Amino acid sequence: MTTETFQTFEELGLNENILKALQEMGFEKPSPIQAQGIPAVLQGSDVIGQAQTGTGKTAAFGIPVLERIDPSVNAVQALILCPTRELAVQVSEELGRLSKFMRGVRIEAIYGGDSIDRQIRSLKKGVHIVVGTPGRVMDHMERRTLKFDEVRMMVLDEADEMLDMGFREDIESILADMPEDRQTILFSATMSKPIMSITKRFLNDPTLIKVVRNELTNQNIEQVYFEVKPQAKVEVMTRLIDMYHIKSLLVFCNTKRKVDEIVEDLQLRGYASEGIHGDLRQQQRSNVMSKFKAGVTTILVATDVAARGIDVSGLDGVINYDIPMDEEYYVHRIGRTGRAGMSGKAFSLVARDEKYRLKSIEGYTKVKIEKGVIPSFEDIVGVRKARFVENISNSIKDSNDEELYNDVLEMLHHSGFSTEQIVGAMAKQIMGVQKNEYSDSNLAWEERRSDRREGGNDRFGDDRRGRGDRREGGRFGERREGSRFGDRGGDRGGDRYAPRGERGDRGERGDRGERRQSTPEPGMTRLFLSLGRKDHIMPKDIVGAIAGEANIPGKTIGAIDIYDKFTFVDVPERDARAVLRAMDGNTIKGKPVQIDIAK
Ligand code: ADP
Ligand code: MG
Repeated sequence: MTTETFQTFEELGLNENILKALQEMGFEKPSPIQAQGIPAVLQGSDVIGQAQTGTGKTAAFGIPVLERIDPSVNAVQALILCPTRELAVQVSEELGRLSKFMRGVRIEAIYGGDSIDRQIRSLKKGVHIVVGTPGRVMDHMERRTLKFDEVRMMVLDEADEMLDMGFREDIESILADMPEDRQTILFSATMSKPIMSITKRFLNDPTLIKVVRNELTNQNIEQVYFEVKPQAKVEVMTRLIDMYHIKSLLVFCNTKRKVDEIVEDLQLRGYASEGIHGDLRQQQRSNVMSKFKAGVTTILVATDVAARGIDVSGLDGVINYDIPMDEEYYVHRIGRTGRAGMSGKAFSLVARDEKYRLKSIEGYTKVKIEKGVIPSFEDIVGVRKARFVENISNSIKDSNDEELYNDVLEMLHHSGFSTEQIVGAMAKQIMGVQKNEYSDSNLAWEERRSDRREGGNDRFGDDRRGRGDRREGGRFGERREGSRFGDRGGDRGGDRYAPRGERGDRGERGDRGERRQSTPEPGMTRLFLSLGRKDHIMPKDIVGAIAGEANIPGKTIGAIDIYDKFTFVDVPERDARAVLRAMDGNTIKGKPVQIDIAK
């Protein structure tokens, strides 16, 4: 590599006007990808730049593009391709800010969904830099409303995302149509085979700039994990939001389905949240994003792939609702918080069977993720009280039309309430803290011996498996009998689960012994699962998976009969559809499961 690291923008020898703009934008010093990327691009060679989301890749190519534009030549001199309309707009806006003090530079964003006639009119006026999505750029090329004979620089921004979105062919035909002697620059958060093959075909002896991960996770990000039962994750999430007063939050999860479920759950609890995933139309995406940016929504829930197509950074926090399947995703996810000198929080909610993935992330990032303590109900009441008192005090200090409301107290006094009672009731209503079925002791999973030592469950050996199960049955019995699930206490559940060990035994002999119950209880539907004892699944695995995936309370799940090759499980009739939807093709303990209504 021929590049050195520069500490300041001045040292990069940039144009005065750009330096002035950078100052106004509040960029104090170049980020690592900028420090290395800007000089490389300025040198004129082709460049491949790899750095995670939110590390400032836009300015890394944007500044040199602006440096090399000649505004006196009335032709498109640079073409920047971006995966989405949103990113195209965002890049052109950033270029606009960077070129604020430069004279006569015209930048145009062109993307699908916008009127092509309007775009043609602006293009006719003359444009120096085009920022566009591949589809729409192709469109203009075919209509000959865009001419690229004078293009000197061609940038592929967020290349991995563009390929993920299926733009490969478009990109290739655009590249093939550009003047031979152009400079080609490719930026991407990740490098994959298809990207490498594009670079081989279309880049000429490129300089490779890769910002190493260690620098990325060493940012100002507080990384903490919480051991949480799958079904308690939303509850714990809301407690963390309350506790740390998180006002802009990105929640990540692994599947689209989960996005919808989490959003619904959060909304029911009164949190302003919306989801982003691949199924949304562009218009819906833009809506969701503008509400989030305006602060109308404070929580955005997204899958990894969907989140890569959007521009959000510098958030108060990121919550990993589940642990990503790929270590690199973790780095991407948490990189959305704690930027530019602000500190951010990255919380990971770890179910028991996700713990090993967390460990491998620690190994990969070489950063220790601290274990956190889930805030208790009292903690939450405490912080909400403190905030309430502060808000009321501010409201009293600022108020100027209080006489409009003076008679409210009098009216309530008249009804026989004391001032204390009135204030108490109002505080409760405004603070909105409510006890729900999640008591403090029902959120975390407990560490058991087998978590520390592998294979702990197998020490009973084959002939005693039944005993092993009885033990499990007992555990669930215990857990459900107590008042741990809160007021709806599990008297029914306790009884139902306690004999499960026995049923497990019976299940094991199921082929010859008669079943204790051949039809489910009224109100329950019996489901068939394609996993059984041979797959080493236990009742707790099934409860955990169904409760967690279908988002129904574990205690409502009824009888579970595990046979060698399959299992019957009873779930409430009204939840049966949801369970089928959530579980089919899903996995339990890493094993794919088919699920159906039992015949
Ligand atoms: P990427 O393309 O790598 O995901 P962006 O270019 O979108 O990242 O930058 C992310 C955010 O960081 C933007 O809001 C941008 O304005 C800001 N930013 C970029 N470079 C700097 C810098 N040197 N100092 C402070 N903020 C920066
Ligand atoms: Mg970018």
